[in-house]
Amino acid sequence: MGLLDELNIPVGVIYGDDVLKLFEHARKNGYALPACNVTSSSTVIAALEAARDAKSAIILQTSQGGAAYFAGKGIKNTEKQEASIAGSIAAAHYIRAIAPSYGIPVVLHTDHCAKKLLPWLDGMLDADEAFFKANGVPLFSSHMIDLSEEPVEENIETCVKYLKRAAPMKQWLEMEIGITGGEEDGVDNSGVDNSALYTQPEDIYAIQQAFSPISKYFSIAAGFGNVHGVYSPGNVKLHPELLGKHQAYVHEKIGGEEKKPVFFVFHGGSGSSLEEYQEAISHGVVKVNVDTDLQFAYLAGIRDYITNNIEYLKTQVGNPEGANKPNKKKYDPRVWVREGEKTMASRITQSLKDFNAAGTL
Ligand SMILES: [Zn+2]
Repeated sequence: MGLLDELNIPVGVIYGDDVLKLFEHARKNGYALPACNVTSSSTVIAALEAARDAKSAIILQTSQGGAAYFAGKGIKNTEKQEASIAGSIAAAHYIRAIAPSYGIPVVLHTDHCAKKLLPWLDGMLDADEAFFKANGVPLFSSHMIDLSEEPVEENIETCVKYLKRAAPMKQWLEMEIGITGGEEDGVDNSGVDNSALYTQPEDIYAIQQAFSPISKYFSIAAGFGNVHGVYSPGNVKLHPELLGKHQAYVHEKIGGEEKKPVFFVFHGGSGSSLEEYQEAISHGVVKVNVDTDLQFAYLAGIRDYITNNIEYLKTQVGNPEGANKPNKKKYDPRVWVREGEKTMASRITQSLKDFNAAGTL
């Protein structure tokens, strides 16, 4: 019995208790869902197709930069985040409209929101509240706040403020604590001290204590040596066993039936080994971010297509088969963009298998 029958979770974008049931099912059954960053309708459908064919739910997320790209690079993005707000809302409506056609549950999420990007989150929450008023659900299933660069107290305090706003809509909130190394969306942590890359159990407990009275819909991206992007092996080592220690610490403090009371998120998942994924998932990781690997996979199909067909792509008419032969069938974007969708989808299929999510519907 899978997720759909067992838990009666609907298909299409899901919210509130259905998101909670999905993540509880994942934590209990030892799997995690890949969070696929989407920047266009093409990347959305690549992810939905992969998840449908592997019989799994999926998480789709737009980053602040990805949302601006979704809106179009021709729209100006000032510190008010107009393009990112418009793009993430457009992506949300598109995903909500198309997801039911794929017959799978979809968690609609937004990625890293650092302190200076909070106007983006404010804009999305305005849209959520308006949508909630009209439809009884927010527009997005969940959002993410990344104040890991700020002092811990400020991080928790700000997240609490936003969780209070999200709670009446039963909207999920993901927060980050402990610095993730590397560089993403213009935040460069490649020079930070190693000890700062590992979150302490006291911090996880403090978050649990601050958030739980407000809402049960939250998850924590804790630093255990994670690095955004893919780099050649360096000084930073992943320690997924730390997540197990955090779970034990929190459980000891709060008690209860659930031995793994925390929902963890694995940031900077790209390029990690199968053993690292599996160990992290065994300690309650229910979501893994894999953006960088997907970017490269999306390129691969298009790159190979162009390389293999280059003599058919230089002119509209005329190729090695004859000077008057038309090339329209070769340069139609539905042909070559599709090749990127196929390679991105097969990379997602790999992640669904690696994270034990395939076949869970
Ligand atoms: Zn992160």
